[in-house]
Amino acid sequence: MGLRRLGVLGWPVAHSRSPAMQNAALAATGLDGEYVYERVAVTPEDFAATVAGLGAAGFAGVNVTIPHKEAALALATDASADARAIGAANTLTFGAGAICADNTDAPGLLDALGEPAPASALVLGAGGSARAVAHALRSTGAAVAVWNRTPARAEALATDIGVAAVSGAVDAELLVNCTSVGLHDPTATFKELPVKADDIGRYACVVDLVYRDGGTELLRAAERRGCRCVDGLEILVRQGARSFQIWTGRSAPLDVMRRAARDAEPQQPPPPSGRDGDRDRR
Ligand code: NAP
Repeated sequence: MGLRRLGVLGWPVAHSRSPAMQNAALAATGLDGEYVYERVAVTPEDFAATVAGLGAAGFAGVNVTIPHKEAALALATDASADARAIGAANTLTFGAGAICADNTDAPGLLDALGEPAPASALVLGAGGSARAVAHALRSTGAAVAVWNRTPARAEALATDIGVAAVSGAVDAELLVNCTSVGLHDPTATFKELPVKADDIGRYACVVDLVYRDGGTELLRAAERRGCRCVDGLEILVRQGARSFQIWTGRSAPLDVMRRAARDAEPQQPPPPSGRDGDRDRR
């Protein structure tokens, strides 16, 4: 049998570190003669037709990133409970005529946090990643509060996922930034988010989904105040490790993936252009 294909579908997707990370994992586990992981740029208009042809084109599975995660779930013939509850899928696996959808963003976050899971959390943002994060934390029994710049979206998320919407910062064990604040303008963080740099020590652990070479202002402030910090690259690695395991049945070499993701050619995130500018950096 020839090489089985894996990949990441997004629009845009040129900035993705997943090919470097997944191909390094395949090489480290001796699976590089069996699989190869590619970058696949697909417009929203072409997404359904492209996915329908992937199995026949030799793809065993794909990651799906912005803006396709909801569409990926809708196209699937079978979906995990996490993907259904979140309303989005980031991992597709192709079988005979079947498309199975998973969401590894949610368990990936919990893997990054480790045990014990926090008892309470403040989630900033109400987009796709905030939905996965809120669902993951709620599934552990944590008390989850969600703040968003546009309050109506926080309220909708809260109703769908079964968490609380809040209009400002509240105390919690964990703070997770699921907004794109800090991605393009690192100095804007404490102007645009409801937390203050001086108060960040009230959170024992701070996660920033945004990743920038050199770190984010949020995590730098958290580090200075002695918080445990988890960066966006670790979140990327953990979801990728879960996807790797789903496709190959092998446990993922985390250190190899971390190194490859960190060393991947630094690329500028896509420039801000309305909502499309806030795209995932996966
Ligand atoms: P999304 O669905 O587009 O949501 C963007 C969120 O950011 C919304 O809540 C939006 O608020 C908020 N936002 C944007 N600009 C803001 C500003 N100036 N002030 C306050 N809030 C603002 O995106 P997503 O998929 O959830 O991803 C969010 C970010 O997380 C991405 O930019 C990416 O960097 C990062 N991410 C990282 C990983 C990883 O693996 N590390 C995975 C996924 C995402 P409104 O509702 O008010 O517009």
